[in-house]
Amino acid sequence: MHPLESGPCGSELPRVLIAEDDTVSRLILKNWIQRWGYEVVVVDNGEDAWLVLQQERPPEVVIMDWGLPGIDGIELSRRLRDKSRSYYHYILMVTSRTDELDVVHALESGADDCLGKPFGGPELRARLLVANRILALQNELIHAREELRIQAMRDGLTGLWNRTAFLDLFKRELERASRVNGHTGLLLLDLDNFKQVNDTYGHMAGDLVLKEAARRLCLNVRSYDFVGRYGGEEFFIAFPGSGKESLCQRAEIIRKSICSEPVHISQGDVRISLSIGAVISAGEMSAADCLAVADIGLYKAKDAGRNRSVLCEKSLPEILQSSATQREICSRCDPQCMATCVLAAC
Ligand code: GH3
Ligand code: MG
Ligand code: MG
Ligand code: MG
Repeated sequence: MHPLESGPCGSELPRVLIAEDDTVSRLILKNWIQRWGYEVVVVDNGEDAWLVLQQERPPEVVIMDWGLPGIDGIELSRRLRDKSRSYYHYILMVTSRTDELDVVHALESGADDCLGKPFGGPELRARLLVANRILALQNELIHAREELRIQAMRDGLTGLWNRTAFLDLFKRELERASRVNGHTGLLLLDLDNFKQVNDTYGHMAGDLVLKEAARRLCLNVRSYDFVGRYGGEEFFIAFPGSGKESLCQRAEIIRKSICSEPVHISQGDVRISLSIGAVISAGEMSAADCLAVADIGLYKAKDAGRNRSVLCEKSLPEILQSSATQREICSRCDPQCMATCVLAAC
């Protein structure tokens, strides 16, 4: 079910589909139900009912006659209970078959309730209230599940995407970019000497500093960029569609936003800085490949004295096939490679 667009919310009434082939009954049902404030869609056969129920936002309540031309009420109920369907419909079967076995059959086929003909307005209205209650509960459950799903994707301290969610989004972005021959920029960011912050001011203060750093990261990205916490004092930011120049500019803006103003905490002002490794994904680079290359840039930024951004343009085979550690690869960087790295000091 589409969680944010489904079902009745709060006092909003669900929409009702009436599927009834008898003209008089159909008119009476329509008049009653509209008078009670529901939005109503009316059809006189099972095929049209099925078409309405295929729509993007179908009515949530279905009042259907058992004996319908085309597809009967029992078959419609079965189809609506197919597990692959994303919507939950409340089905009220209306029928002159009031035999106990018929009621059992209707409920077993998927109906939520069964109402024997003839019935009066007050009883139908009360049955619709039951439908509202069930759908409202259902909706609450879906919203709660969606909340939990979103919470599970967020980092508890900073509210940024957590590592799993970020990588998921990033992989999807790489796939999208590769389909349109586009680029994606990635920054891997690590607060400098952060252990000292904890050692000097304590972990609680360290947490506040991490939160403030995360806030500053978010100030300098576009709505379609995404920011995640890799873990500890490390973050990553993805820039869909970003080329080399704009990624380097963005990295520098972000780096300066971190080091230009101290973070105010109760014990005083804490100066922080950030080292950044940057990479532009090209062609078929996987998320892991991008991270490996950005990591090289990050190591280089640390090695070169911290508080700087380094765009790494090393070829991937060189990094992946090397048996050396990443730090060793960095320290073996020749001047030519250095020329392809953008280094900037604060
Ligand atoms: P470098 O410049 O080389 O990155 O030095 P660093 O001190 O930042 O790096 P190091 O890996 O030595 O230390 C990282 C520190 O980050 C140590 C750890 O206690 C701290 N840290 C990691 N996660 C958290 C957290 O959630 N809260 C707090 N307060 N500290 C954290
Ligand atoms: Mg009929
Ligand atoms: Mg670190
Ligand atoms: Mg660090």
